[in-house]
Amino acid sequence: MTVSRRGHRFSRRGIGAKTEAGFVAGISIRFWGVRGSIPCPTPRHVGFGGNTSCIEVQAAGQTLILDAGTGLRELGQTLLERGVAQATLLLTHTHWDHICGFPFFLPAYRPSFELNVMAGHLVGEVGVQQVLEGQMAQPMFPVPLDNLQAKMTFEDFKAGDAFDIGGLRVRTAGLNHPNGATGYRLEVDGASLCYVTDTEHVAGTRDEAILGLIDGADLVVYDSTYTDEEFEAHVGWGHSTWEEGVRLCREAGVKRLAIFHHDPDHEDAFMKDVERKAHDTWDGATVAREGDVVNLPGTDQASSSAAGTSKP
Ligand SMILES: [Zn+2]
Ligand SMILES: [Zn+2]
Repeated sequence: MTVSRRGHRFSRRGIGAKTEAGFVAGISIRFWGVRGSIPCPTPRHVGFGGNTSCIEVQAAGQTLILDAGTGLRELGQTLLERGVAQATLLLTHTHWDHICGFPFFLPAYRPSFELNVMAGHLVGEVGVQQVLEGQMAQPMFPVPLDNLQAKMTFEDFKAGDAFDIGGLRVRTAGLNHPNGATGYRLEVDGASLCYVTDTEHVAGTRDEAILGLIDGADLVVYDSTYTDEEFEAHVGWGHSTWEEGVRLCREAGVKRLAIFHHDPDHEDAFMKDVERKAHDTWDGATVAREGDVVNLPGTDQASSSAAGTSKP
């Protein structure tokens, strides 16, 4: 895993180190939005970032997008600049903070673009297409989903299902969240990335479904909205803590944790404190910042310079 020489910080550049075949080796990700609940674009949040949940994944020649929070807007612009013509959007769920970037995703307005949207929490209910139609229905938004020009498909699966996207293996698990949510594990070339947000743990117990999903993973991005100290006052709100993320990752033999879905009330000074405490607790823990890049080369391409984590 490529990490910054500054130790417990992720890198800021380098998504998509290409193999000779022109593909990204293993899994490469970039955080376009790391915030939960609502965007918070203030000078007091700019260090860690104010956009809501959105992660770009490049793997096996595929572009995947994890959630469509406000970070999706800028990602869409760069995908067009880079000439990307196809992407799969995997939604954890459809609370506002995970879909509010969708109407501003420029590639969806281009007839040449192909977008596949998948979600695992709506099967037997309304379905993801209908939810996104509702989001863009007048008078809340002037352009209905029907008017988007891209070739789009919408697919509902059941959280817990496994499937393939190109050469990428995708496993999923249901999360403990109001209205449901889906955790993802993506695997290719021996590299593994897990995206586990939004979810609430039960204090004193480990979530077995999550432990199974993240077992031995290279990187787990985890709902760390609260600290353990704050958690008791927020039981039933559907979120977890960075300390629980550390406990889960250690128990499951995970290499690295990305603390994610930061509470808008947690300004930069607070998050720096979380970063220091988390790293003191476990040197595999890192707070995700908007713009951070992580390359997971996998066993097929791993080299001595890329493996493991660096010490400060
Ligand atoms: Zn959320
Ligand atoms: Zn949510």
